[in-house]
Amino acid sequence: MEDLKKKISNVQNPETGKTLGEESRVTKVEYKGESLMITLQRDGITPESKRKLEDAIIEVLKGDEDEDNIFILSESKKSDDIYKAVGKAPKKEASKPAELKVGHGQVGEKKRIPNVGKVIAIGSGKGGVGKSTFTANLAATLSAQGNKVGIIDADIYGPSMPMLLNKRGEKPEASEDKQILPLEAYGMKFISFGNFIHEDEPVVWRGPMLGGVLNQFFFETDWGELDYLLLDLPPGTGDVQLSMVQNLELDGSIIVSTPQDMALLDARKALHMFDKLNVHVIGMIENMSSFVCDDCGKEHFLYGTGGVMSACSELGVGYLGKIPMEMALRKGSDFGTPYMTQNKYEGNPVWKSYQEIASRLDRYFNPSDNKKKSLMGKIFGKKEQ
Ligand code: ADP
Repeated sequence: MEDLKKKISNVQNPETGKTLGEESRVTKVEYKGESLMITLQRDGITPESKRKLEDAIIEVLKGDEDEDNIFILSESKKSDDIYKAVGKAPKKEASKPAELKVGHGQVGEKKRIPNVGKVIAIGSGKGGVGKSTFTANLAATLSAQGNKVGIIDADIYGPSMPMLLNKRGEKPEASEDKQILPLEAYGMKFISFGNFIHEDEPVVWRGPMLGGVLNQFFFETDWGELDYLLLDLPPGTGDVQLSMVQNLELDGSIIVSTPQDMALLDARKALHMFDKLNVHVIGMIENMSSFVCDDCGKEHFLYGTGGVMSACSELGVGYLGKIPMEMALRKGSDFGTPYMTQNKYEGNPVWKSYQEIASRLDRYFNPSDNKKKSLMGKIFGKKEQ
């Protein structure tokens, strides 16, 4: 272990030319089962340098460790620093633990969250289709593309964001003016029911009672400036989901489904729910569309193929893309190192899928930008980015 630590500490920070050891950036090196988890303190490092740094660490450890078992986590002491590279204002000082206001929320005019760009709800007809995994990894993809991203984990039945983002057991604090200070992970802000309730506690809140808490997550949380805020809804299409978004103006929704007929049937219900709420469905995602065997490289279509795409054309709703099954995606979720925060997967089928989905989302929200890009491409004979 000491040897490993030494090797990591000798890697150079491309921004300063000093080693990670000299800058005291290596805060934890530990094994969890076969996996080597390395935690770095990343204050003051731009996203670009962070990528280089992570690649350099993998490079020096490759000889000793299986690359697939190396996971790099990052933490920040001065959270305002994360956003320096993209021009974020400093955050308010924490004063005491944040408390939830369980109670009936006021139903009123739908409102926007100040300084927050696109708010997207992510839903599914049923649980277990990969909705939360998708939310965390889409957020990470958008963030790596230079966006300021936040996540609200509104899944009261099984809040998984604390685990997915390696922040189990952390309690959000409140600022002096009683705003909740969101937690931060991998340069993204997030808030989850899971960080307020004990993991083993049964959840007894019902639809209307949640209104107050959600309003707090939406409007009494110091989100700062965000380009995207993703809302991970609980699975299903009942009252809870309906009451969740009654006060918040959404810019659209995404429905995650697997290609199985049963899941698709439920996904249709989710579509009708968003219709009822007057929330435009940007598109559907086919998750676990196929399985690529690690050993033979062959692609297996466990649940058939193209189910979601054909459902989309039948229902007249957009199709955002498909994500294959990959063991590393599941492992990353279990270890709190989302797949799309680990550069070593760049170029893999799942990686490419997320990039494509994020680009489609960007084209959906910025069609004129893309027209401009393509026009410039034609004029200057450049390939489109
Ligand atoms: P949901 O939020 O819909 O209940 P989760 O995101 O918790 O579902 O995913 C359920 C399980 O499936 C998790 O163990 C997750 O790691 C795994 N999973 C999700 N998508 C994939 C995928 N494309 N490949 C492999 N495992 C996946």
